Amino acid sequence: MLACATAIVVAALAGCGAGGQIRGRVVAGAGTGVPGATARLREGGDSGGAAARGPDPESATVRSLVALGEPVYCAARRGDEVALTFDDGPGPYTRLVLDKLRKHGIRATFFDVGRNIAVMPTAPRREQALGGVGDHTFTHPVLTELPPAGAHRELAGAQLALERASGARVFLFRPPYGVHNARIDALARALGLLEVMWSVDSADSLGASHAQIVRNVIAGMRGGAIVLMHENHGQTVRALRPIFAALARRHLHAVSVAQLLTDDPPSPQQVRAGQRGCGTVARAQSGD
Ligand SMILES: [Zn+2]
Repeated sequence: MLACATAIVVAALAGCGAGGQIRGRVVAGAGTGVPGATARLREGGDSGGAAARGPDPESATVRSLVALGEPVYCAARRGDEVALTFDDGPGPYTRLVLDKLRKHGIRATFFDVGRNIAVMPTAPRREQALGGVGDHTFTHPVLTELPPAGAHRELAGAQLALERASGARVFLFRPPYGVHNARIDALARALGLLEVMWSVDSADSLGASHAQIVRNVIAGMRGGAIVLMHENHGQTVRALRPIFAALARRHLHAVSVAQLLTDDPPSPQQVRAGQRGCGTVARAQSGD
């Protein structure tokens, strides 16, 4: 919440209510509902190749995960790839984040809020080129508190807006605050969206310092991890360089969520186990 308080403009735009939550339970704040492809190319942290590659396309593996209709928390953990994710953009820090990613040859996935596209209309296309763009709803509400039609407008509206802005099909989705239920899971599936949670929480949306963010991310950094961060926190931007250095030391490669799940796909049994399928202990998460 502290982090949101320090970015009032962004908070207003992104509906950044932040708050600790665990699946299905919101502890604090929320926005209000308003209408609203596969060449396998290894990338390295030293290649600088991110800018030269296009977006990572939807693969048959990703489509099979969509068909399961269950949220994915991590990959199978058999490889040396991880996925960094940035929620709540675009925003004032987006350009900085993109510049750092490009400079270090790091790819990532951006779960954008539909109404924030107006802040930086060119951002989704640039983010898509550095990995991928996902649907983080149009106004960042607590989806489980909306009637079915409202939830549908949030997901479908953002999906359409992001596809127009990015020039690519949007097939990934992350629910605001990580709050979802079976109805939201089914809605995502019906829209062809894979619900992507995370196995590592940077806690940046809880006001963690850049040093704490680095520690939180490094503590959970292993092959198959999906890391939750936000592109609207200055402390997160500051934490990126040490995180990139830690990735290189551990010989881990940062790829998009779509690439990670295609290269190191979790089994249906693992997906159905939820966060336990990632071998991590469930704990309160900051959501987003
Ligand atoms: Zn969020």
